Amino acid sequence: MSEPTTHDCIILGSGPAGYTAAIYLGRAGRQATIIEGLQPGGQLTTTTVVQNFPGFPDGIDGNCLMDNMRAQAIAFGASILPNLATGADLSQRPFRITLDSGGTITAQTLIVATGATAKYLGLPDEERYRGEGVSACATCDGFFYKGQTVAVVGGGDTACEEAEYLSTLANKVYMIVRKPFLRAAQTMKQRVEHNERIEILYETNCIGLFGDHGVEGAHLVYRKDEPDQRFYDLSLAGLFLAIGHTPNSRLFLEQLQTDSEGYIITKPNSAATNVRGVFAAGDVCDPTYRQAIVAAASGAKAGIEAVRFLNE
Ligand code: FAD
Repeated sequence: MSEPTTHDCIILGSGPAGYTAAIYLGRAGRQATIIEGLQPGGQLTTTTVVQNFPGFPDGIDGNCLMDNMRAQAIAFGASILPNLATGADLSQRPFRITLDSGGTITAQTLIVATGATAKYLGLPDEERYRGEGVSACATCDGFFYKGQTVAVVGGGDTACEEAEYLSTLANKVYMIVRKPFLRAAQTMKQRVEHNERIEILYETNCIGLFGDHGVEGAHLVYRKDEPDQRFYDLSLAGLFLAIGHTPNSRLFLEQLQTDSEGYIITKPNSAATNVRGVFAAGDVCDPTYRQAIVAAASGAKAGIEAVRFLNE
């Protein structure tokens, strides 16, 4: 029986990074095979309007944007497999990817564009109000809360940054911090502590949300399970989770260089990883920006670099 075809490039992930990489490969005459994973179209399919992706002055629905990217990738020859990658062997080329169907496919180059997943508190209300007052991205959604009152959950650097950013838009920003202190760098702490629009609620947990038309407030508890614990409600228009993200890099932790949080490390100003022929793009290697346009741009880099590698 003949060996199954080895693909030019397998792209893991069908978010902005994966589709953009496929477009660049296709236009350069190389065939891209996208494994789309459990979330075809990626994170933007979970939002409504995207207002900061250039080219759409009136904004564009997240699903529509991703459908367009998908169509563009297909127009340039990409094939899309409705599978999840469950294993990877990068020890030699062609690289070998195992799929949830049990099959294996091989490729000369691999682009990992598996994204990152925001951590949530695990409250049923978060699911209920997702996109209706619950967000994990101040840069994405802060604009919708101009002049209103919002809260940020978390006490680390990211939470402080999100709170500071939101304070330029919202009238009032509460920080809901579980511990009696912030886990942020000194300068960051000082900036939020001295910001007149930010109020820090230490030793406070969010235990639920309420509202008939999207989030109208949060149920909080001060000093949970302590003798002086106190339950109260806070009126809010939005709740921003800033308790971290998990990069979807689990399959590669043993094979690719990652940082302490699992973000894949790429070479400076490049999408190349420590394994020749393997590239990473998008949120899976970006602990800083986590924006669709940045993911798309890094997908373009990965596509171009994969083509150069294949042409060598
Ligand atoms: P993702 O979009 O995360 O896609 C990852 C892909 O990898 C998915 O298709 C998934 O199925 C696939 N995958 C994962 N594991 C596997 C596997 N093992 N095998 C195969 N496939 C796999 N950004 C903006 O710029 N503007 C906004 O307004 C905006 N709003 C947002 C609203 C929400 C609610 C969220 C959650 C995010 C928002 N973002 C926004 C952020 C933006 O969505 C991300 O930065 C962007 O989607 C990252 O793109 P990506 O291609 O790296 O990965």
